Amino acid sequence: MDKTALADRLGQPAPFGRSPFAIARGNIFEARLKADGCAALLDPLRSRLGLPAGDDSPLRVPDLLPRSGPAARAARTAQALAEAVAEPAAWTLLDHPMLRLTVAGSPAYLEPDAVVVRGGRCTVVEIKSFPVLDGAADPAKVGAAARQAAVYVLALQEAAGQRADSGPYDTQELPGSPELSVLLVCPEDFSNRPTAELIDIRRELATTRRQLARMTRIDELLDALPPGTSFDLVPDVAGQPTRPVAELTAAVESVPAAYSPECLSSCELGFHCRSQARCEGAVEQLGRGVRGELGSIRSVGEALAAAHGDAPEGDEAAARLGYAAALRAEALGAQAMAGAVAG
Ligand code: SF4
Repeated sequence: MDKTALADRLGQPAPFGRSPFAIARGNIFEARLKADGCAALLDPLRSRLGLPAGDDSPLRVPDLLPRSGPAARAARTAQALAEAVAEPAAWTLLDHPMLRLTVAGSPAYLEPDAVVVRGGRCTVVEIKSFPVLDGAADPAKVGAAARQAAVYVLALQEAAGQRADSGPYDTQELPGSPELSVLLVCPEDFSNRPTAELIDIRRELATTRRQLARMTRIDELLDALPPGTSFDLVPDVAGQPTRPVAELTAAVESVPAAYSPECLSSCELGFHCRSQARCEGAVEQLGRGVRGELGSIRSVGEALAAAHGDAPEGDEAAARLGYAAALRAEALGAQAMAGAVAG
């Protein structure tokens, strides 16, 4: 399902994501690097990957059907990858290849900025618009780029035929297997000049593998849905959704949500789920920490009632809330008394 379009249709669009200026800056930097047969990218490839110097660019850039659908693009990428691996002496750059990765038992399609193949091995190239200043970049942004690249490396390992249950480092013998470091290319000191660094992603790779292995399969999730549930927006020929909002709202509400404030920065439905949690007065809107502290108390109304001493006997969380409220009232009373004496 397209969660961005669904949130939009429900009247709660998610206004998060990269700023349009950052996206435009990134696109311009990448286009500049890849113009004229990747002329500006050759220097980082020479300095970090050992691409030989020469007047004629030794880099081959095959056509990867950029205007086709994801499945056709993935098939073309697999073919180009196999051809590049079969010629270990050649240097090949796959520009925006389409990779396929099995996530929760279903195929997901991923598009790295580039993959360089030489000597039968691949290296993921990530192009980012954040600057490297005096040889150092923002560690949080480098970490995010490493986590993103780790998913691409997993997809390349899957393409190389690595078994899903094998360790992250068992790829050395497989032709076409990816390197365990990725080439991060960024602008240098606010200029448009590129600088590049190889980033070791073995830790990110191991973490991502563990997370993927723990995911519930999509067919199991679907089995748990009420029969007939669908989030289809039923688009018309112009791609505009035609499904009534009330029907969609009912479909979304038929699935229990586990909202927490962290959803706002990671899920397109965050604003919809927050508004539902607020309408229901659910304690989840106060964060996981408060939710855990409140134990059996499930709503803000119940929490306020417990604070005023109106709670069931023997409920530990309610008793603690009542005690805390009494302490607060006592402290405020003492403060008011001290103010009156001083006045
Ligand atoms: S509960 Fe959170 S993660 Fe789940 S759909 Fe709502 S916003 Fe998304």
